[in-house]
Amino acid sequence: MDSQTTDIQNNRRRRTIERVKTSWIWEFFTSEDRDGVKWAVCKLDKIGTDTPCNKQYKTGGSTKNCIDHLLNKHQISKDGVKEIQVIF
Ligand SMILES: [Zn+2]
Repeated sequence: MDSQTTDIQNNRRRRTIERVKTSWIWEFFTSEDRDGVKWAVCKLDKIGTDTPCNKQYKTGGSTKNCIDHLLNKHQISKDGVKEIQVIF
């Protein structure tokens, strides 16, 4: 007998959790609130220097710019250092 059990029944948990700032980028960015607008400020130093990067992005729900920035300017990606991935 083919015992192919389907336990995909209780798989529908409620997902009303709003996407708060759980992104990995917040290890490297500081979140700032200015006039109701969320900004992300880069905490890292410019690569190879002691100069703070301080790059700032508006993060209207998207952290894509920050991710691009980390990747391009600091060679950091979600899975660690220097793993280039295409985001589009
Ligand atoms: Zn930076």
